[in-house]
Amino acid sequence: MRIDTLELLRCPYCGGRLSLVESLFHRSTSEEIHDGILGCHCCVFPVIDGIPVLHLLPGASQAREQVQAERPDLARRTMFGLDDEAHAERFDAIASSDRATYRDTVEALGPNFEGGYFLYRFSDPTYIVASAVARSVAAAVLRPGQRAIDICGGSGHITRSLLDLSAAPTVLADLYFAKVWLARRFTAPGCEPVCCDGNAPMPFARGAFGFAMCTDAFMYIWTKRQFVGEMERLVDPAGAVLIGHTHNERTWSPSHGQPLSPEGYADLFETIEPRLFGEGNLFADVVAGGPLDLTRRDDQATLDASPALTIVASRHPGVFARHPLEQPAVTGELRINPLYTQQAEGEHLRLTLAFPNEEYAEEYGACLQYLPQTLTLERSVVASLAAGRVSDEMIDLRRRKVIVDLPKRYY
Ligand SMILES: [Zn+2]
Repeated sequence: MRIDTLELLRCPYCGGRLSLVESLFHRSTSEEIHDGILGCHCCVFPVIDGIPVLHLLPGASQAREQVQAERPDLARRTMFGLDDEAHAERFDAIASSDRATYRDTVEALGPNFEGGYFLYRFSDPTYIVASAVARSVAAAVLRPGQRAIDICGGSGHITRSLLDLSAAPTVLADLYFAKVWLARRFTAPGCEPVCCDGNAPMPFARGAFGFAMCTDAFMYIWTKRQFVGEMERLVDPAGAVLIGHTHNERTWSPSHGQPLSPEGYADLFETIEPRLFGEGNLFADVVAGGPLDLTRRDDQATLDASPALTIVASRHPGVFARHPLEQPAVTGELRINPLYTQQAEGEHLRLTLAFPNEEYAEEYGACLQYLPQTLTLERSVVASLAAGRVSDEMIDLRRRKVIVDLPKRYY
């Protein structure tokens, strides 16, 4: 972790500042802390492999003891949940290899990690809406030097879409060490990961951020009132809070969680008035290529019938506007969407959409609104992809998610 990140961090329990305990084992430079112990008025927390772990769940306490015992290698294994020696050694070998991909690393963590759809994440309907809304709102409110935070951001897929909007590193907060570790290494390089518990007070200073978001996770938070109060506390008075893709109590959806009704969500906000949007209309804006219309006022019937809601709270006049959707600069590698099978036909390449399974088709089938079932590309287009050249045709293919900007060494 960067030393200057200590300016943002506060103990989740006493609210005190955190500093490196110099008398205990640590590995640090004038700019970074790699391993060590942070202390406040009430407590101590470990930094493991450059990631502060600011909660007191059982693994974290064990890992802190291991850091204090000068075994940061064992502390990292504890945080990855690797208690079998042979498995831990296999994982350590992958984690220290420069050639290992995100996929290799996820697979080395075991079959229960990440659920398997990560390959398709950057083109799924939930992602494209969340990414468009996050970029639009963040770009409207972030002033030079201000930061964004992605809370419960998992392995950083949406965090990645915020990185170019601010010179100060975007903070990614999540309970799961393995996920934020993967984000920093692969998905969102340059983000600043912090491990913390979404059901506890958030370990950050008041007003430390211009933009705070949480997407596709809020329905799993039990302490919703505290969580929203904390998001309101974290942003400065002209900032914005975004809760993206949260399920609606009035509809059924797969992986339902403990959702609230639209009014229930609105009532969580005490200091900034929120606006709720049904995800469907925002999705239609994105599929049409923009603008993303945040001036709209969805009526009660629309909200009640929406399986997923997006909530935006801000006093900034630039937020509730029509936002043009521009494609961000390529930061990874342009590749053909892995949902397509590829078949060579002379000078052409025939792409055919093939969902990984029925469940995927059921949950993410709305991608048929932008992904063609089949299409034929000239091989020269594919060759120019590899060379990093961007043609007009490619801009259109990218807009339709036939071509996606995947993180380097993704799979
Ligand atoms: Zn404390």
